[in-house]
Amino acid sequence: QSKDNGRNRFTYFTPSMQEAAQARMAISNELRRAIDEGQLAVHFQPIVDMHDGRIRKAEALVRWQHPARGAVSPVEFIPIAEHTGQIVAIGNWVFREALAHARRWRELDQQLTVNINVSPAQFYHTNGDNCRHWLTDNAIDINGGAGPPAVGLEITEGLLLASNHAVMKQLLAFQQAGIKISLDDFGTGYSSLSYLRKFNLDYLKIDKSFVYNLEHDAANVALCEAIIVMAHKLGLKVIAEGVETEQQYDILRRAGCDYGQGFLLGEPLPPDGFEALLHERMMASALNRPAGTVRSP
Ligand code: C2E
Ligand code: MG
Ligand code: MG
Ligand code: MG
Repeated sequence: QSKDNGRNRFTYFTPSMQEAAQARMAISNELRRAIDEGQLAVHFQPIVDMHDGRIRKAEALVRWQHPARGAVSPVEFIPIAEHTGQIVAIGNWVFREALAHARRWRELDQQLTVNINVSPAQFYHTNGDNCRHWLTDNAIDINGGAGPPAVGLEITEGLLLASNHAVMKQLLAFQQAGIKISLDDFGTGYSSLSYLRKFNLDYLKIDKSFVYNLEHDAANVALCEAIIVMAHKLGLKVIAEGVETEQQYDILRRAGCDYGQGFLLGEPLPPDGFEALLHERMMASALNRPAGTVRSP
């Protein structure tokens, strides 16, 4: 591998590494066309209040329908886009798309917030096209209606680790505009806890690897419980991601978790599908059905 920092920095390019590099380059080239040719879409996954089972938020998740490859996972193309800088254009497109839908859904539900994932590169990019401008360009849209901003941001530990002054200022500006910041994938990165003190974040998202197999994994239960207690003591609300079973939901709810997200509670859906779900759940709660209806198909 090319990871060693020593003087002997020779690297072996095995055929598979070369193939992987070529595949990355191909994806990057094709990604260039994806935005222009309308191959990207944003899907929305519900985030549910564990106290009453109601949808309070949604996470915007980008989707790429490639004409030949079919659906390409963001797990595959986002890291490449981060590396090439294409994430800035993709991120701006996702932001506009998500914001437009969020504003519309606000007419159904004045509290609904759509969370948007932001890569560190979107903070650092300096060509005047980065997310700093979301605030100025979209100030009216974000704060236009009544209630809190229609969008929130999900950031990762990597952004905070660098903790440079410009990033701190930018995060603070978002928060002063009322935009809530969630720390995504908590527990999977460097997990330095000092940034939880340094930054006043709003939500902590427990990574799905800690929720996985929760009902059969005492260590994961211990970690989830400890994360929830710590977060609450620091004044953060907790969102658990990857909730797939009723048992996981119950364990997390009993541990005091505030919100849940996962296939049990709703898969990522195209905008019209999410809107239908929102309608349906609102009707159900208006008819005073039990909160458990949230988990029926
Ligand atoms: P993430 O932000 O942690 O998003 C949650 C991921 O978990 C999503 O994967 C979602 O589909 C998946 N998921 C939700 N519920 C469950 C569940 O019950 N079980 C399991 N196993 N998975 C569940 P997805 O959509 O493939 O996205 C993967 C990652 O790609 C995201 O992780 C995020 O880091 C990145 N990503 C997606 N959209 C964007 C975007 O617009 N911008 C940026 N910068 N990154 C994005
Ligand atoms: Mg996320
Ligand atoms: Mg996440
Ligand atoms: Mg994740």
